[in-house]
Amino acid sequence: MAIGRLRLKKHRYDFPPYRPPSEAESLLLRVTRGCNWNKCTFCSMYRDIPFERRPLAEIKRDIHYARDLYREETKTVFIADSNSLVMKADDMVAILGALYGSFPNIERITSYARAKTLLKKSFDDLKLIRDAGLTRLHVGLETGSGKLLEKIRKGITPDEFAEGCAKVKDAGFELSVYVLLGLGGEEMLEEHAIETAALLSRIDPHYIRVRTLQPQPGSEIYDDMLEGRFNKALPETILKEQKKFLENADVSSCYLSDHLTNYLPVNGVLPKDRKKMLSIISEGLTALENDPAVKESFSRKDRIKKL
Ligand code: SF4
Repeated sequence: MAIGRLRLKKHRYDFPPYRPPSEAESLLLRVTRGCNWNKCTFCSMYRDIPFERRPLAEIKRDIHYARDLYREETKTVFIADSNSLVMKADDMVAILGALYGSFPNIERITSYARAKTLLKKSFDDLKLIRDAGLTRLHVGLETGSGKLLEKIRKGITPDEFAEGCAKVKDAGFELSVYVLLGLGGEEMLEEHAIETAALLSRIDPHYIRVRTLQPQPGSEIYDDMLEGRFNKALPETILKEQKKFLENADVSSCYLSDHLTNYLPVNGVLPKDRKKMLSIISEGLTALENDPAVKESFSRKDRIKKL
């Protein structure tokens, strides 16, 4: 049985507004609200949510409500909101202890984390949290281009990102890194693709997850697009960028297009599936050029709002 929102909501359980698609079956546990950075120009996810750490007593109360309803069925847990590692290590250890103590069948606990926070956290604290049972971290890179990272106000350099990720891997976490296709618009395809491939080749994360930029109202990049300062990439540019990335990425990662903003289902393990993945893109480019139905289905993605 899936973890049902309605039953928990009756207890005023505090649901996070976002989770990765891979956590659709997970129990969602909110330990912070909002984003303590909240400055990335492409992101409107937490713009209206003031950042706060939830008190431990409140978090434990939610865990107890969920335990009373889903003790046996809970196998995976996702900890939210955008950067739960900003919590003190001792608090995270206490939360993880409460989760494992409440749900006997847990197989995986994951969370979003901001790379700058990982960089600042000591290795010993990361290890403590990993040993307490947080298994995987989802970290947004978006691009490996230093110029573009600065432009989108990500608040981190490529070297800092690589350093934070190396620490996470050394501490024993599974690392899932997000890349935002189209972030460089029409003009920066080459730089975005090549430098992202170069940086991820240094990091070699367990997972690379791609999303395609569909600017959302409330973000600066959306206003830039409307006012002509950002030239949104066309679907063919996005596919060429993805192709260039795959040709240049020297990684042993699982590559996933697991989001509905993406134009094509390009999924596989690198380097083993590279050829198959590249041919999906080549076929997509040909179809886009010759088949109006494909063009229309791609353009429908441009109308996706608030994911
Ligand atoms: S992309 Fe992540 S770090 Fe940047 S503002 Fe959004 S939630 Fe915060």
